[in-house]
Amino acid sequence: MAKTTSSDKYVYLFGNKKADGNGSMKPLLGGKGANLAEMTRIGLPVPPGFTITTEVCTHYYANRKTYPKSLWDQVKQGVANTEAILGKKFGDTQKPLLVAVRSGARDSMPGMMDTILNLGLNDQTVLALEKISGNPRFAWDCYRRFIQMYGDVVMGVQKAPSEDHEPFEIVIEGLKNELFPGEQHAEDTRIDAKGLMELVKRFKALIKERTGQEFPTDPWKQLEGAIGAVFSSWMNDRAIVYRRKYNIPTEWGTAVNVQSMVFGNTGDKSGSGVAFTRDPATGEKVFYGEFLINAQGEDVVAGVRTPKPVAELSKFLPDAFKELERIRQTLESHFRDVQDFEFTIEDGKVFMLQTRNGKRTGLAAVRFAVEMEKEKLITWEDAILRVPAEQLDQVLAPVFDRAAIKAAKSIAKGLPAGPGAATGKVYFNADRAVEAAHRGEKVLLARIETSPEDLRGMIAAEGILTARGGVSSHAALVARQMGKVCVCGASALQVDYGARTLSVGDTKLKEGDFLSIDGTSGDVYVGELKTAPSEVIQVLINKSLDGKDSRTYQNYATLMKWCSKATRLQVRTNADSPEQAANAVGFGAVGIGLCRTEHMFFEGDRIDAMREMILAGNTEDRKKALAKLLPYQREDFIGIFTELKGLPATIRFLDPPLHEFLPHHGPEQEDLAKKMGIPAAKIARRVQELHEFNPMLGHRGCRLGIVYPEISEMQARAVFEAAAAVQAKGIKVKPEIMIPLVGFPKELQLQIDLVNRVAAEISKEKKVKLSFMVGTMIEIPRAALVADEIAQTAQFFSFGTNDLTQTCLGMSRDDSGSFLPRYQELEIVKQNPFASIDQTGVGKLMQMAVELGRKTRPDIKLGICGEHGGEPSSVKFCHRIGLAYVSCSPFRVPIARLAAAQAAIEEKKAARKK
Ligand code: PEP
Ligand code: MG
Repeated sequence: MAKTTSSDKYVYLFGNKKADGNGSMKPLLGGKGANLAEMTRIGLPVPPGFTITTEVCTHYYANRKTYPKSLWDQVKQGVANTEAILGKKFGDTQKPLLVAVRSGARDSMPGMMDTILNLGLNDQTVLALEKISGNPRFAWDCYRRFIQMYGDVVMGVQKAPSEDHEPFEIVIEGLKNELFPGEQHAEDTRIDAKGLMELVKRFKALIKERTGQEFPTDPWKQLEGAIGAVFSSWMNDRAIVYRRKYNIPTEWGTAVNVQSMVFGNTGDKSGSGVAFTRDPATGEKVFYGEFLINAQGEDVVAGVRTPKPVAELSKFLPDAFKELERIRQTLESHFRDVQDFEFTIEDGKVFMLQTRNGKRTGLAAVRFAVEMEKEKLITWEDAILRVPAEQLDQVLAPVFDRAAIKAAKSIAKGLPAGPGAATGKVYFNADRAVEAAHRGEKVLLARIETSPEDLRGMIAAEGILTARGGVSSHAALVARQMGKVCVCGASALQVDYGARTLSVGDTKLKEGDFLSIDGTSGDVYVGELKTAPSEVIQVLINKSLDGKDSRTYQNYATLMKWCSKATRLQVRTNADSPEQAANAVGFGAVGIGLCRTEHMFFEGDRIDAMREMILAGNTEDRKKALAKLLPYQREDFIGIFTELKGLPATIRFLDPPLHEFLPHHGPEQEDLAKKMGIPAAKIARRVQELHEFNPMLGHRGCRLGIVYPEISEMQARAVFEAAAAVQAKGIKVKPEIMIPLVGFPKELQLQIDLVNRVAAEISKEKKVKLSFMVGTMIEIPRAALVADEIAQTAQFFSFGTNDLTQTCLGMSRDDSGSFLPRYQELEIVKQNPFASIDQTGVGKLMQMAVELGRKTRPDIKLGICGEHGGEPSSVKFCHRIGLAYVSCSPFRVPIARLAAAQAAIEEKKAARKK
């Protein structure tokens, strides 16, 4: 049975200051459609047209690529309305209406889907356009562009994956070589009307040759084909890759916008551009963007010609510039966010083709948020919501070392389109870049210009460099959003795809050579340049920069101050050394949520004592080896407690299977045997004895302390002796001892009894009062199921979601690489469950443990220390289920703080709505 949609209205009209839709209807009309409606409503100059809803897309895929019955009639009404507003007619040979057909999903997916311009042209209507405009060159240029786009998008005349150039571009190059022999880069604009007529002929022949079909002349047929192609492009490879990267659900679908054409290519009083109301790379409040005179919009974003900065428009078309400045202000005060908009100037008159919230770098996101709050455009709470938590990573990303830059030679300068420092081996093709990245190389992708097909290569690369194209080219846009370093339009570069070389003057690099790019200055350097930490890190961690001298730091600090004001969920850190603890505290962590004590046993000679302990044949020998480990462990805790200055530290007792510490190969075993003065065969035998079929489910966690209580005893002693020593210096100490992998209440009981006994002994020995807690990790399902019983003795729970995910899903985190990517592709799992909490499965266990734990012990302290504690959507989940804190690696502390604050504000807003 055919699936029906929720309403029978599939087409929403806009034009003449009236619109069926509005800006809040993005799910139905897509971002572009909703904002075209909104701009029309607020009186901005938008060419009239209509939007076909995303529900039609859903219907299309649910019903073997067919449309709802009444769609075509509604499309006809849409065309009729547009005709009436403009006094033109579709297919008319006197005053033909020409339209653009564009995709537009709920969240913008720049360049990932298809667009067709100048639709409605054929051998007759082109003559009418010639007559009306009095400009044959213009008319035939529109026609050849239309055939090119339609041929590519609808009829599938495209380059094969092995080719570097589009077939239509090859035809253009061929004609230019005939017209301008010997000239290397003749601009397309030099081809005259006669040349363009010839191009039309050749394009049609190319289509016939490649597809066996004629180019369609009936405008209605053209429209039908174009609408179908745009819906189909929702499922093209790059759109799928993009959706996966940004977690955009396939079910959303795209809308299709059919809009009357305005022309930026009618002559020198016309042009097209893309602009941002502020600089999306640095965040500075300047009118930012670019334009091309006498060009259509696609020329600007495709990066075929390098456009001029928008400020220069005031020299060419001062009135249009003034109008754009006015629009810039209107957009910001209406949408209250930085807008990225497309405009066309037709014979001096400005038209708006699109507006959306501008994609921005992390650096810009923070600056926009802080400055817009100052300008009273938004509240401080909105400012927090404006910065995607994951993007803070970019604010903490490295820059080039100042000394290294001074010593380096800049071989070219392009436009700084994505800030930061990137260095790697250069590749000239996306597929080869991906392969190299898979081999573990750091890769830079260098292209003459990028097209959306390069997306995979861009994801794999550290940075992107193009010889042509401006700061609003697709390359720049996508790079910025991904936080990739990007330099665009470095026109001095000669990229030779065939020879796989990049050259500037005498300097020539081969594919695989090292190159460095500075996306903040636009410089391109030969070789591998040293990088330096971001300014925030220089201020907070290295203390090598004064915060007053860094705007980036100040904006960051303002944002973090607001976060502290909003948050309920605290952020701790996973740290095993005083240095890591200090870093995290610098970032605002309020304690350690997980200190993995086994990490302390790998360093230097400690591993020898550890191995001795494991190899011991009886308790006596084991205790002797443990006595050697005690001072090391005590010193580590003294360092950590001192650094924490009274903040709490959750210390987990030994967790991994013992064989992880032993040498597995002959020569290493012999080496150890010599050191210990025992036969190598004994070591080999013990290694064999400790072998496990499923170590993850084997003798590990609290099972070690149950079978060998002397291990836990040594660890407890180290903690309390360190606590006594640090307390004696007048520093407060708050240890929280955490027993791992508990499933049975009795396991925990036994370990807690032991810890309490040792604490009492030391209290007596040292004549000090020790204040501490003992709790457990909840990391196997049984613990969650009997959490009420476990809470009888546990003073706190910390969710070990790494193991809880493994054991709940029955999926080993170390072995999931062979099938999880496929699972994600098939959307069996929406996200990697080891990165983002599986909320409906693992999350349910967590919720159950929270409820049961609180039932027994209402004030039980609840936290999380699995890797998920630094992942924004998981942090928000933890807030919602009422945890007291998340704990994550030091460099993710700012991200977790931001996500935690966002969760609190989102909750408050939702409550207000109710
Ligand atoms: C966990 O399982 O989530 C955890 C923090 O422990 P580990 O990763 O050390 O097993
Ligand atoms: Mg664990």
